[in-house]
Amino acid sequence: MIIVQNYIAGSFETEIETIDDIGPATGEKIAKIPRTLDANASISAAKEAKKDWANRTIEERAQWLGKIADAIEQRKSELAKVESLDTGKPIEVALNVDIDRCIKNFRFFSEYHTHISENEYRMDDATNFILRKPMGVVALITPWNLPLYLLTWKLAPALLMGNTVVAKPSELTPLSAHALCQILEDIQFPKGVVNMVHGFGHEVGQSIIEHPDIDAISFTGGTQTGRIVASIAAPMFKKLSLELGGKNSSIILDDADLSIAIPGVVRAGFLNSGQICLCGSRILVHASIYDEFMKEFIPQVNNFSIGPVISENHMQKVLSYIELAKEEGGEILTGGEQSGENGFFIPPTVITGLEPDSRCSTEEIFGPVVTIHTFQSDEEAIAIANNTDYGLAGSVWSKQRGMAVAEKIESGMIWVNTWLHRDLRVPFGGVKDSGLGREGGRWSLEFFSQPINICVMD
Ligand code: NAD
Repeated sequence: MIIVQNYIAGSFETEIETIDDIGPATGEKIAKIPRTLDANASISAAKEAKKDWANRTIEERAQWLGKIADAIEQRKSELAKVESLDTGKPIEVALNVDIDRCIKNFRFFSEYHTHISENEYRMDDATNFILRKPMGVVALITPWNLPLYLLTWKLAPALLMGNTVVAKPSELTPLSAHALCQILEDIQFPKGVVNMVHGFGHEVGQSIIEHPDIDAISFTGGTQTGRIVASIAAPMFKKLSLELGGKNSSIILDDADLSIAIPGVVRAGFLNSGQICLCGSRILVHASIYDEFMKEFIPQVNNFSIGPVISENHMQKVLSYIELAKEEGGEILTGGEQSGENGFFIPPTVITGLEPDSRCSTEEIFGPVVTIHTFQSDEEAIAIANNTDYGLAGSVWSKQRGMAVAEKIESGMIWVNTWLHRDLRVPFGGVKDSGLGREGGRWSLEFFSQPINICVMD
């Protein structure tokens, strides 16, 4: 049994009350985590540490990011093991997708600081100098689907720009964040700069958001939770970044190269058991190629190996959407039921026959479930893709018209003839109910800093 502790001012601390952490592959208890009720101690620690960390040079902070990347690299198999245990994802996915990306997150921002553009604006009689100051103490709140990947995607730029941090990982997947704190301790990372608190979102998570000494909040999670966070942060004028849910379309036009589109769309639908905000869970296929597409698509879906979904509760939510799909007139072509004796497994599930505006086709299910729809023209495909409250991502598969269709999709990110092909310099984020603000490259650096202008007369 792993005992997870809070990490505050460089020391590991326990709470009297604990929460059980259940492994989704077995349904058994794998760890106990602190049920922290308030974040006051961690926020005070971060506030104290800010005095020193904010005053170090950006080069020194960048060097620390490099050291963290090295230390993660040395312990990558250990980290992949705990990530796989906690999320149920196959160990190769944990190693090659999750932990690999954590290392890249730190390395990327460690090197990226040299790209911060020169900030001097000359006038006839004066010069403006723009300084980038840290925000102060920042809150990082993250979900369970890519636990360390998403935490480090925020942590690296926050630290680079001179902020100190209070982070709260999901109560469903606390293990890799705890392991990261052990790594920080081992490499003697300055105490109090990173503080990690564990517990329920509506308890310790909300106490972080509400605290007056939190200067900025970077939140990734569901749209409903994002609304609560925004309603607390807005009247306090806290800087806020929200990366929220999605219901993304994979659009296969009549001129698509099916030999790349089909495996691409299968991966987009089911990687991480469909539990990635970018997953393409609505598949729109041109009617003229539907039969040819389906003949190859279903066998590839059945061969795609996935892990469990994250929890008993989440499994019940996904299964209830499959029931709803039947009530809405859908036909289950493959999957559709819980599988296995233990753990929370649902095989890849494909549903046809639903109206494109049905609930199952427009609401986020966040599991291994895709719906298939046909269309007759590019305009119709675009209209179906845009007919949801979300606007996070999507993909278009076409030899000729990918870019033209992609431009008309209401969404923050679109891939053409690929999916989840990431350049860490580009903006990442959603429109509509999928969020507010952007992460990535200079967008992350801008979020975690504030520009101050000093105008000096000649
Ligand atoms: P969630 O909203 O339930 O929880 C996210 C985090 O917020 C957790 O750490 C949780 O403890 C905390 N939290 C919950 N209530 C809170 C409150 N009142 N105050 C402060 N913190 C609170 O989301 P989840 O179920 O963990 O994650 C799945 C969701 O995340 C999906 O909707 C998915 O699309 C979304 N997601 C979005 C992105 C993106 O980049 N846009 C990436 C990954 C996941």
